[in-house]
Amino acid sequence: MLSVKTFAKTSCFLTLANKLCRFSSSSLSESFYNEEQHGIQKTVRKIIDVDINPFVDEWERRGEYPAHKIFKKFGDAGLLGIHKPLEYGGLGLDFTYHLAMLEALGNVNCGGIPVSIAVQTDMSTPALMRFGSHELKSEFLAPSIRGDVVSAVAVSEPGAGSDVAGIRTSAKRVGDDLVINGEKMWITNAYQADWVCLLANTTTDRGPHLNKTLICVPMETKGITLTKKLDKLGFRSSDTGIIYFEDVRVPAKNIIGEEGMGFTYQMMQFQEERLAAAAISLMAMDNIISETIQYTQTRKIFGAPVLDNQYVHFKLAELKTEVEMLRAAVYQTAKTLGKNQDVTELASMIKLKVGRLSREVADGCLQFWGGMGFTNEVNVSRYYRDCRVGSIGGGSDETMLSIICKYMSILPKKSK
Ligand SMILES: Cc1cc2nc3c(=O)[nH]c(=O)nc-3n(C[C@H](O)[C@H](O)[C@H](O)COP(=O)(O)OP(=O)(O)OC[C@H]3O[C@@H](n4cnc5c(N)ncnc54)[C@H](O)[C@@H]3O)c2cc1C
Repeated sequence: MLSVKTFAKTSCFLTLANKLCRFSSSSLSESFYNEEQHGIQKTVRKIIDVDINPFVDEWERRGEYPAHKIFKKFGDAGLLGIHKPLEYGGLGLDFTYHLAMLEALGNVNCGGIPVSIAVQTDMSTPALMRFGSHELKSEFLAPSIRGDVVSAVAVSEPGAGSDVAGIRTSAKRVGDDLVINGEKMWITNAYQADWVCLLANTTTDRGPHLNKTLICVPMETKGITLTKKLDKLGFRSSDTGIIYFEDVRVPAKNIIGEEGMGFTYQMMQFQEERLAAAAISLMAMDNIISETIQYTQTRKIFGAPVLDNQYVHFKLAELKTEVEMLRAAVYQTAKTLGKNQDVTELASMIKLKVGRLSREVADGCLQFWGGMGFTNEVNVSRYYRDCRVGSIGGGSDETMLSIICKYMSILPKKSK
């Protein structure tokens, strides 16, 4: 047990440490990650500090970042395949090592780039890794792990976002080929992707959960076109677009796993996607809270720092507490996922919570920056715009609530 003397010393130390360094720390991550995992985070941090953050403002203005260049940096450092099989160039480590990498991505000074990277590690490749043939993994997974190519995941359509079962893009068998027609909306990395993990209907004679197939489609294939980039509220430096498929022919061997299992594979793949989105958000929230502490400590009103108002420091302590609680859930769920167990319910709860909490952090912190918070000079305003998509992309809050209700057996039958 902590003695009174040690307690007093610890408190003094904490006060001093806080004065010296206000930058993000998390007691949970300090104790959860081992030395190697902290090492992974340092490597990520170095790439971010040297190759990403100094250029983020420019890329945000331009509406695109050089994904190939950045992916290669990550690939060369082994960061795009941490938990992927050695056979395809991965490191073969467990999911928590990958989680360490994802969490460190939250240090990028914008939301678009970390998510663009996570598309490759956690959205376009999990099903391929689990169910793809050796040939397909050699052709698409291995170069994705090396960072030689950029990928995208194409599920959503203009008429089907939340309703994944309602997609209309078709891939019809003609001899040994599939002929694809349709359009995919909101696709992250669309303009820079070399290949896309596409969900399409391969048959009309089975129900909506058994007629879908995931297919690896090279983006240079004839019949694929893109219109101009979507102009977005946030995630300015990641390119998002509509992909049109008109009589696009790919070999049927590009099917991931079994034909007709695409819906199920995609639902499984969503677990990684949702957990990754949450992991990235943790450090981003920590950083916004830390920056707000730094600012409010120096900004004086009525002769005292803004931070000294009890409402301000209590609110920041409350937000920090919420982030740590969420972090605990992310860590536990990542460990379970690493054992190949289904985490759909927990991942949905986490996705719901992170969408809402990041909005609360953004709004609560921005308020304490006053007018400065409303300018584009500070990270908090970009964060305010970027985090909004968290409650929409990858499944809206309401979609998460529906999934949770299903697990609670309280979703009315007609909504299922
Ligand atoms: C920046 C960005 C990047 C994206 N990247 C990709 C990508 O790379 N690949 C990809 O496939 N997709 C991507 N998406 C698409 C994203 O996954 C969808 O936008 C999302 O699933 C919601 O679909 P929707 O936009 O069609 O909204 P809709 O399905 O039209 O839903 C609209 C709203 O209805 C409400 N709603 C939904 N379901 C229910 C319900 N059951 N009960 C009550 N209310 C409900 C919600 O508030 C929801 O926001 C991206 C989206 C954005 C904005």
